[in-house]
Amino acid sequence: MLDSQFDIAIVGAGMAGLSCAQSLQQAGYKVVVIDKSRGLGGRMATRRLQRTHADHGVCYLKPKSPQFQELLNQLVDRKVIRVWTDTIHKLDEQGKVQSPQRQAPCYAATNGITAIAKFLSIGLTLRLNHRVERIEARDGWQLHCEAGEVISANAIVIAIPAPQAAIVCESIDQDFVEQLKAIEYSPCISAIAVYPIERQAEVEKLGWKAIICPSDPDLGWIGIDSTKQLNPVQPAIVIQSNAHFATQYLDDPDLQQVGERLLHRAAELTEQWFTSAEVLQVQRWRYAFPTNPISDKYLAANTVHPLVCTGDWCGGNRVESAFQAGLEAAKYLNQRLSEREARCKHRILPDQFWVQI
Ligand SMILES: Cc1cc2nc3c(=O)[nH]c(=O)nc-3n(C[C@H](O)[C@H](O)[C@H](O)COP(=O)(O)OP(=O)(O)OC[C@H]3O[C@@H](n4cnc5c(N)ncnc54)[C@H](O)[C@@H]3O)c2cc1C
Repeated sequence: MLDSQFDIAIVGAGMAGLSCAQSLQQAGYKVVVIDKSRGLGGRMATRRLQRTHADHGVCYLKPKSPQFQELLNQLVDRKVIRVWTDTIHKLDEQGKVQSPQRQAPCYAATNGITAIAKFLSIGLTLRLNHRVERIEARDGWQLHCEAGEVISANAIVIAIPAPQAAIVCESIDQDFVEQLKAIEYSPCISAIAVYPIERQAEVEKLGWKAIICPSDPDLGWIGIDSTKQLNPVQPAIVIQSNAHFATQYLDDPDLQQVGERLLHRAAELTEQWFTSAEVLQVQRWRYAFPTNPISDKYLAANTVHPLVCTGDWCGGNRVESAFQAGLEAAKYLNQRLSEREARCKHRILPDQFWVQI
């Protein structure tokens, strides 16, 4: 039978939840990570299609802090990621693709960005396919999952987008829930297009790997995603809408047609052959980027048993902010739990974030 009693339950297996879980588990806590999806990574998402794959959420990582750079170095050493490019092209206001100066290295995973989440999950106890619907304070916490399963823990970390956290935390005091509800997100629609193998030669002639489109009315990003792979055999491109387009079409019943619009716009701006995709899949992200993140790295509830909410919306809107928020939430929780357990033992979080293999 599966264990259902833990020191700490972490809801959300994205970057924030996994970094928090690793840190707390290495300090000796009995941790479980619960996620509603079948796979790990949250918005660090990869889809496998025919003989290729594509990242339809996070495109690449560009570290700003030494701490995040250290994590990326570790991932490079383990051959999970590598430098993908140092040049992201830009679409100018006249619709022309401009080649910028060389920029800082952008990292990507050769097997898809979810490989990072798989790496971060090493050694953790996971409950996937478990949507946490509500939590209840009863002799610690009880987490009620969609399928009826109940998981018990002394403390909870909720590492999911704030509006989703507000639903899970409904039974907590209203001030806390209102703070969560105040965080807003912009949506995004991603189209993933896969082409016949014969097109691979044309990809190699392109002269760019990705284009940001800051002033286009519809698009935000065009990336030749298969160029992240070591030996790509079949081209895959990912086109992301901007927030304005996504807001307009997020609930459109014909998502496929929405994806085709994105594809046609990308073809108009770059290569006409982009319209001849063999497969086109579309993903909508209701909570893509927090638009008004809080400056703190977590939001702690004023409850007897510790409860903390965190995620990219605490301090930023990128994977790096999710990573830092997860680690800071772990520190806070360790301190709270250590105070309660003072007479038993004091646990020490690792100084440096390191996944033990
Ligand atoms: C299209 C797109 C492109 C992006 N590009 C980049 C980029 O290039 N670089 C970059 O740094 N960032 C990028 N971002 C932002 C980045 O994805 C996020 O900042 C980061 O991944 C957030 O991590 P997180 O752990 O906070 O949340 P998430 O990754 O959203 O993880 C939350 C997890 O919680 C789970 N969950 C939610 N509710 C429940 C529940 N009730 N019960 C159980 N589980 C639940 C979800 O399934 C998910 O796995 C992009 C985002 C999008 C959508």
